[in-house]
Amino acid sequence: MPLPDFPLTVPWQRWAAQGFDLLWPPRCVFCGAETPGCETPGCDGAGRRRPAEVCGDCSRSLASGGSRCGRCGQPGDDDPCGRCGGRTGECAGLVVLGSYADAVRDAVLRAKRPAGELLAAGLAALIVERHGERIRGWQPDLVVPVPMHWTRRLVRGTSAADELARGVASGLGLPFRRAVRRSRRTVMQNSLPRSDRRDNVAGAFRAVRRVAGRRVLVVDDVTTTGSTVAACSAALLSAGAAAGYAAVAARADTTDVP
Ligand SMILES: [Zn+2]
Ligand SMILES: [Zn+2]
Repeated sequence: MPLPDFPLTVPWQRWAAQGFDLLWPPRCVFCGAETPGCETPGCDGAGRRRPAEVCGDCSRSLASGGSRCGRCGQPGDDDPCGRCGGRTGECAGLVVLGSYADAVRDAVLRAKRPAGELLAAGLAALIVERHGERIRGWQPDLVVPVPMHWTRRLVRGTSAADELARGVASGLGLPFRRAVRRSRRTVMQNSLPRSDRRDNVAGAFRAVRRVAGRRVLVVDDVTTTGSTVAACSAALLSAGAAAGYAAVAARADTTDVP
């Protein structure tokens, strides 16, 4: 399975990379442990380096989300699950790396901080490793991050969703496009009761690039009700996109709210 990496095709580049590994062994971006290079899960062992190394322990603990519904991301073995019954509105499928209650929460919070790009790349690599097959089955044409409002972007420069989407796009060999903007500033979703979140983001996004006929994968760092990725997907569909899907690093799981 291809990973977000860059091929070292010229022999001297491979030798240089091997020498570099001897002097500065690759380390896991999450825990700092030395990673065994080509023995890293998913590495093709052919002189290709991943942009973000993730050790086996971190891979296991971060991608330990168990089975989930592939339509709405709820934990469980049924797909589609009884809660969504396959009816997911604007977003036809959702993959989740792990529960926000687990180790992935800490990784997502660290990825949001300044200089968290490598951690976001590590999470993106794990999303592709774990869910690449399902995502490829959706046949997306491009990968789009859930946008920040420009006033927030001005302060923070980049966002975890941007970096995650960039990594997922690179891992899948698809283009990354900031195809959606926020048309108005919204209250932070996590400050609202669940029942108000859908209204908070409804109509808050618009597509700013030509997406007509394209199948789009929307990427975000965290979701609870799925309202934000669904609202982005709705904006893309109303601009003519053929289908919308979503991938998120963490889902705040609840059993009380469908
Ligand atoms: Zn690690
Ligand atoms: Zn479901």
